[in-house]
Amino acid sequence: DVAAALRRGAELEKEIAAAPSRFRVLTGDRPTGRLHLGHYFGTLRGRVELQDRGVDTLVLIADYQVLTDRDVAEHLTERVEDLVLDYLAAGLDPERTTIFAHSAVPALNQLLLPFLSLVSVSELRRNPTVKDEIAHSRQSSVSGLMFTYPVHQAADILFCKADLVPVGQDQLPHLEVTRTVARRFNDRYGQVFPQPDALLSSAPLLLGTDGTKMSKSRGNALTLAATADETAALIKGAKTDADRRITYEPDRRPEVSSLVLLAALCQGRDPVQVAAEIGDGGGAALKRTVTEAVNDHLAPLRARRTELAKDRARIRKVLRAGNEKAGAIAEETLDEVRSAMGTSY
Ligand code: ATP
Ligand code: MG
Repeated sequence: DVAAALRRGAELEKEIAAAPSRFRVLTGDRPTGRLHLGHYFGTLRGRVELQDRGVDTLVLIADYQVLTDRDVAEHLTERVEDLVLDYLAAGLDPERTTIFAHSAVPALNQLLLPFLSLVSVSELRRNPTVKDEIAHSRQSSVSGLMFTYPVHQAADILFCKADLVPVGQDQLPHLEVTRTVARRFNDRYGQVFPQPDALLSSAPLLLGTDGTKMSKSRGNALTLAATADETAALIKGAKTDADRRITYEPDRRPEVSSLVLLAALCQGRDPVQVAAEIGDGGGAALKRTVTEAVNDHLAPLRARRTELAKDRARIRKVLRAGNEKAGAIAEETLDEVRSAMGTSY
């Protein structure tokens, strides 16, 4: 549960501080569009911090998982390269962080068959996150890929024996499946896998310009890649409310408060204070403040991104090198799995 994860998180924090290089963290994204400020403050910034502290960091581009809630994965090459650009621009360093594509590491996906044998259909059916994702899916029927999604995630995490998985609260049940799979595998075949811990993100949810969760695939996002002018236009069109007095009250005024929060995060300030300063200026003043805060904060990242985007060949090289590194790790683990299961012929 959440309280226990938070307590464990505080303990882990100390252990990481004492010996960062003893930890391996796995995170990732689906290549469904460009990364936005929700990702940046919710996870990307944290990944860069872990990397810079010396934690061994792997970032998986979950291309197969695009197909969990839609029938086709479109523009994959472009979207995968865009993700790599966003990562590098945000400060992930391919010398220290392994960036790789799921489909490029076949040894990883081999773990799926033994892992599937370790979970029951009723366990999968009970998983609250799967239930929720199925309810919001655009597909008319539930695919086997969607249904077994937590088991895929177990393979993604366990192939590299990650100890730490940064997650939002909604992802905690998935990590429980990963821990269960690891435990059951070890019980049945002998110790191979660690049971990874969640690093629970404390980042609040940012809303998009339409007042719902900022999301890559909803067309409501302020992306890292957008220009300053595009950002200004998007913020100008953002939903607010009729009250001219700007306050920070996330429960009562979600749209206005999310904009205030965005400015506060960009400026490293307290949202209540940011709101108080705008005072009676209304939506227009709020939007001016947010636009300036976002564009100022992202300017160096965007400059790096523009530079990096000129050399697509380099981006592809980064990805190939990451694929190779991840592949070597997966082969090593698969060897251990084969010995444990008695299938090293
Ligand atoms: P998709 O459209 O493919 O579902 P998405 O934009 O909804 O993409 P997620 O895959 O849901 O992104 O998010 C990955 C992680 O990024 C989340 O677990 C969370 O940590 C962070 N994140 C995404 N969107 C937001 C947001 N709006 N506010 C805060 N954090 C976010
Ligand atoms: Mg999503």
